[in-house]
Amino acid sequence: MKSPMTSKAKEILKSHDIQPSIQRIKILEFLLTHRVHPSADDIFQTLSMELPTLSKTTVYNTIECFLKAGIIKPIHVNSRELRVDAFIEPHVHFTCLKCGKVYDVEMDKTSLVGKKTKEGHLVEKEELYLEGVCSECQKNGIIRKFKNV
Ligand SMILES: [Zn+2]
Ligand SMILES: [Zn+2]
Repeated sequence: MKSPMTSKAKEILKSHDIQPSIQRIKILEFLLTHRVHPSADDIFQTLSMELPTLSKTTVYNTIECFLKAGIIKPIHVNSRELRVDAFIEPHVHFTCLKCGKVYDVEMDKTSLVGKKTKEGHLVEKEELYLEGVCSECQKNGIIRKFKNV
């Protein structure tokens, strides 16, 4: 099974002068395919089934290498672990306080990057971070309520 993301992952690695080893390709492919903002542990758990030779150290080193190259970025959510995102264009994250999932959300909001605040500060980076109960958990909550009646 070859996903279209395999060649995309290879291309990205090559354009950053990173040797496209099978493990690096798989890790990047996973990040490009699943927008779940995984931690290194999540990546290891998922990929070790498919790649039995994969070690945790390799996953950590690969993430480190991708972060340095700017292929992925760390996301700032309320979590003890570092979680990463292969979508590097600015977007907003929503963390569910019930299930802990981190979602990409669309927001109708004009970016302040490149603009000046009222005080005259020039904005170069903007990070918006939302928390609450995700739509899935809301649905499950309703089901549970009905069952209790
Ligand atoms: Zn949830
Ligand atoms: Zn994201």
